[in-house]
Amino acid sequence: MVATDSTTVLVDCGFGYKEAIARLKRLNVDPDSLSGILVTHEHSDHASGIEGLANRHNIPVYASRGTWIEIGHDLCNHSHVINGLFSIGDIEVRPVPVPHDAREPLQFVFTYNGRRLGILSDLGSISGRVLQGFQELDALSVEFNHDRELLKSGPYPGFLKSRVGGDFGHLNNDQAASLVAEIITDRLKTVVACHISETNNEVARVEQALERALQGRNIERLIASQSDGFNWISVGI
Ligand SMILES: [Zn+2]
Ligand SMILES: [Zn+2]
Repeated sequence: MVATDSTTVLVDCGFGYKEAIARLKRLNVDPDSLSGILVTHEHSDHASGIEGLANRHNIPVYASRGTWIEIGHDLCNHSHVINGLFSIGDIEVRPVPVPHDAREPLQFVFTYNGRRLGILSDLGSISGRVLQGFQELDALSVEFNHDRELLKSGPYPGFLKSRVGGDFGHLNNDQAASLVAEIITDRLKTVVACHISETNNEVARVEQALERALQGRNIERLIASQSDGFNWISVGI
């Protein structure tokens, strides 16, 4: 979720209605106050709860054309097709296409008052467009999805290991670390490691990778858990 004084935007909703409401409540957000919901792609951990939340509270929903094809054009009462840079309230939203095995997956860079926040999950490799899009950030939430060794030796069936570890799957800790190292600038204040696999990763390994990526700089680092997410952070203050 991304919020200013007057605008609150939710990114994805992979939970059932009750759980989504409980999570909003934990962050003190009234669902009726949501200005919009962005859907990154159609996978169920991102899109399954959109319909219930959006339609019960009359929230506009924004997704790429491909994502709408997959989740259904008539799923939501107020639907918008993302087609380049746009704004929701006073937040500017820049969509960035990512390599992931979905129809037309996007991730986003948000700008408000000159401050820039990037959110980046669900990508199997680091494309030029990603590097170009996620520049000059004040804060970044990025997936440290799995550890290469743990995925290899873990319980997933072979096809799933290839999917997750492939170029259109998810970033492993090393890839995420090199991405962060590549786009780091002096203005970066906070990095949140998100979309961490409970089966194929360990917090200690994510911390080590973050340490490598941040090269000893004084940057706030947070690790999002699947059960609790993380609390509000201030961007660029
Ligand atoms: Zn996902
Ligand atoms: Zn996905």
